[in-house]
Amino acid sequence: MPLFEYECIPCRKNVEDSLKEIRKKTTKKLVSELVKKYDNINHIGVLDLDNEKVLGEAGKRDKNAVDLNFYLNDGSILVFVNLPKNYRFSALIYVEEDEKTVACPFCKTKKVEKVVSSFAFTSDLSTDMPKPDLGNLPPSVRNRTFLGEYIEEKDRPKKNR
Ligand SMILES: [Zn+2]
Repeated sequence: MPLFEYECIPCRKNVEDSLKEIRKKTTKKLVSELVKKYDNINHIGVLDLDNEKVLGEAGKRDKNAVDLNFYLNDGSILVFVNLPKNYRFSALIYVEEDEKTVACPFCKTKKVEKVVSSFAFTSDLSTDMPKPDLGNLPPSVRNRTFLGEYIEEKDRPKKNR
């Protein structure tokens, strides 16, 4: 099995730290600060699914990049994070020596760790990273979020300004 999965520790930490802040309290200001602060994050969107509200959104979503989605607060908050490169990546390892050259495709660091098995990650927030399935979102949310097209400032719900 020469193909192994790795995660870049610093890139992953940026995402984890962002989620930590978002979990505490989401404000529009916070979200835009996070996007500015972390260069491996293109865009963050936070949706309150219970109240069908956009809590915060910042950055520019690159549709060719990687979308990760995370559920917080027992699934009532959905966070979309758009990354130029996923912090999880695979590398071909033929001989042990190859491991020393494994580097993050985004930040090039060698501070990476091997993902041992996909099972180990099922309890982890970072496990689930399919493209977001928007079919489950209430239409009222879906229609006025970044998930469709980029929303002009003037078209956003007042509360988020
Ligand atoms: Zn990295």
